[in-house]
Amino acid sequence: MTRQRLLKALERLNVWKRGSDRAPHKPLLLLWALGRIRQGGGRLASYEQDAEEPLKKLLRDFGPRRKVLHPENPFWHLQTDDLWELDAALSFAPGRGPTRSELVRHNVSGGLPEPLHRLLQRDSELLRAAADLLLFGHFPESMHDAIREQVGLPRNSTAVVREGRSLPRRPGRDPDFRDAVLRAYERQCAVCGFDLRIADASFGLEAAHIMWHSHGGPDEVPNGLALCTFHHKAFDRGVIGLEPGSGEYRVLVSNELSGQSQAFREVLDLRDRNLRPPQEDELQPEVEYVDWHRQQVFRGAPRSRPQR
Ligand SMILES: [Zn+2]
Repeated sequence: MTRQRLLKALERLNVWKRGSDRAPHKPLLLLWALGRIRQGGGRLASYEQDAEEPLKKLLRDFGPRRKVLHPENPFWHLQTDDLWELDAALSFAPGRGPTRSELVRHNVSGGLPEPLHRLLQRDSELLRAAADLLLFGHFPESMHDAIREQVGLPRNSTAVVREGRSLPRRPGRDPDFRDAVLRAYERQCAVCGFDLRIADASFGLEAAHIMWHSHGGPDEVPNGLALCTFHHKAFDRGVIGLEPGSGEYRVLVSNELSGQSQAFREVLDLRDRNLRPPQEDELQPEVEYVDWHRQQVFRGAPRSRPQR
């Protein structure tokens, strides 16, 4: 497989999403496999011994909240994208794959096809480009470093990304989106009001997508929020979320968050606080996008309201 064909195949993974539901199983398995190559791991990984636990953790930390996680699914279904093969010949009715216990019983191992594995072993720039494609295609940028760290890939140097000849257009790059969102929120964090400036320039303030750009969220103000860097990360990781109230939005805090510090107490204090509205009413966040975030990104259940 050539460099071009690999990048094309990774791009085509996008079509496997069900509507706007997040299904990050295949991208996370591939990112895990890329990290393994970078660390000199062998091509084939045993489902039970090597892959299951790390994949489950990736799904728990970076996937949508689900009662049951299915790390066994991509281990089988990624074969149809020509990016994965198994060392055991198992056959099932079309559309069905093995259960976890079937993978374990047959002691199945899987990995990237041999030529692809060798290509990626030799070409670290290609490996980085492949990881970027998966990250930008399925996750907001604020999560990329945390995922890279967990799978053992290096943090990126943007020089390499820009220079990549066959890299796709990086999503979420509409320069007007950022300006329009920051203007709508009068250059203040919609959650905490953060508004520091150095001379005439604000810093530490970002335009967040409510429905991720990688999942079809448009570059429009009703799908955006001006957030300080910390609240942007917290929003993208599902630590905080939004709930529509009477004409406004209230801030939710996940019951999965824990800590002992002042920072923890400050996040708790956000519970039930009203989101600072944009200056024009028609620029308010669209309920459709807020619902998507609540279902696909917000983690756990919201903590109960503070006593008043
Ligand atoms: Zn803030």
